[in-house]
Amino acid sequence: MLVIGSGIAGLTFALKVADVARVTLVTKKRRADSSTNYAQGGIAAVMSPTDSVELHVQDTLRAGAGLCHERAVRELAREGPERVRELMEWGAKFTRSHGGLSLGREGGHSRRRIVHADDLTGREIERALLRAVADHPAIQTREDHLVLDLLTGTDRGRPVCGGAMVFDHGHDEIIAVRARRTLLASGGLGRVYRHTTNPDIATGDGVAMAYRAGAPVANLEFVQFHPTALYPAEGQAVLVSEAVRGEGAVLTTLDGRPVMDAHPEGSLATRDVVAQRIDRVLKETGDPHVLLDVTGIAPDRFARRFPFIREACLARGVDVPREPIPVVPAAHYACGGVVTDLDGRTGLPGLYAAGEVACTGVHGANRLASNSLLEAVVFSHRAAQAVRGEVDGPPPGTELPDIGAPGPAGEEWREIQEELRTIMWDDCGIIRSDARLEEAELRVTELESRADRLWRGGPITTDLAETRNLCGVARLVVRSARSRRESRGLHHNVDHPERDERFRADTVLSPVSEA
Ligand SMILES: Cc1cc2nc3c(=O)[nH]c(=O)nc-3n(C[C@H](O)[C@H](O)[C@H](O)COP(=O)(O)OP(=O)(O)OC[C@H]3O[C@@H](n4cnc5c(N)ncnc54)[C@H](O)[C@@H]3O)c2cc1C
Repeated sequence: MLVIGSGIAGLTFALKVADVARVTLVTKKRRADSSTNYAQGGIAAVMSPTDSVELHVQDTLRAGAGLCHERAVRELAREGPERVRELMEWGAKFTRSHGGLSLGREGGHSRRRIVHADDLTGREIERALLRAVADHPAIQTREDHLVLDLLTGTDRGRPVCGGAMVFDHGHDEIIAVRARRTLLASGGLGRVYRHTTNPDIATGDGVAMAYRAGAPVANLEFVQFHPTALYPAEGQAVLVSEAVRGEGAVLTTLDGRPVMDAHPEGSLATRDVVAQRIDRVLKETGDPHVLLDVTGIAPDRFARRFPFIREACLARGVDVPREPIPVVPAAHYACGGVVTDLDGRTGLPGLYAAGEVACTGVHGANRLASNSLLEAVVFSHRAAQAVRGEVDGPPPGTELPDIGAPGPAGEEWREIQEELRTIMWDDCGIIRSDARLEEAELRVTELESRADRLWRGGPITTDLAETRNLCGVARLVVRSARSRRESRGLHHNVDHPERDERFRADTVLSPVSEA
């Protein structure tokens, strides 16, 4: 088995198949470099007698604005508690109170169901999973191994995936890793935007590679912008978790007017509503940011519950909770991705996908907070169960793609990435319009051609590979956004401001139809 990615999805899958197959897990930087490592708020699961699977299902469906696949949501909510308990068995230590798990509440959830480890939940999960993987003799983890493309071939006349071409930095060589089954668990694509909470690994490689290899992708227009990243938000913005609003913090303008006064759920409305409202307020006032007033939270409680956020604020000279926190929205989560069934199968036989790179149908047009770690762990478990019966036999025959050799490259990739991020932020961001999306598609297509020319013409570097993927995935995001001529969930187009039931369907992009 080949596993691409060492976040929650890849690690869970590896642990679940390693008793029946040898597993090679490749990851493009250090093993803990993942979005998982930065998740703060927690993982949603029904863990209290006052909660129910049905309530979790209904909350998720409500957030998803008519596009969730109900069967996927039901599996998510039903299997969630067992998967969370399994994380604890692997050693994850979650915050406890009164002898049980301490459950937080976040926007859109009707009950307290957020299992967390203070505000460092992802780091704790990643720590526990990496330890379990390191202890497993059948899993070989290779750091600094960047997957460039998937290996494809045919098996009895059908296209099939048989592993991947991998750039091994340590030895500065490109190698073919052949596998009977490949799990794509390469995370998100936040780095296509100027402001993002995502770490630098989130360059959309998985979606770009899967699409190039022939697997359909869906719902890429639904990019969630987290409403509250610590301002200024260049590079990887520090996220100020929703849980802070769950504890009573309130959004205000710089002159103290409430931002969310018109909404019944106030500052705890769903993320899209809050992000759009802040975007509007910022455009109206011309202010660079709004404020998250945390002065109502007792200092010792704040320090106990949000040590990471407190440290980040203090480092920027914001004396929390005595002073309000300056915040702006930033790209945070991709609801769409590589289309999978309920067992992680993609449209390309031999290739499975799980975690943020996948589109299982759980999130629909908008993700409910803390459902993504849960989705990753539930559906990578399901994918593992599915492949356990498919481990016998050699890897399918595949052709080696024509890829250049590693070597020093120029700096043009930098210019392409800069321009791409500006276009995506300005023209395909929180609030969109037909004209801006049309312009974005033209400009992104040009950038993609430039990146392709560099890729074909010269030496291969990590930066170039990521630039090619960023351009490829950005074009798919813009194309998806252009084809949805309505506003729904996370996609808001001023020229089509209402929901239109004729668009109540996934936006599926298929490489075959493009060809
Ligand atoms: C700041 C922040 C806070 C968040 N808070 C929460 C939260 O509280 N609750 C919640 O549910 N969700 C949260 N999320 C979202 C959640 O963390 C992610 O959706 C989830 O961790 C994704 O897990 P994953 O395993 O799919 O991908 P990741 O954890 O991102 O792992 C992807 C892996 O793939 C590797 N990779 C990528 N491309 C390649 C390639 N070409 N070759 C080799 N390896 C590659 C990466 O290096 C990495 O190891 C948060 C996200 C961020 C950024």
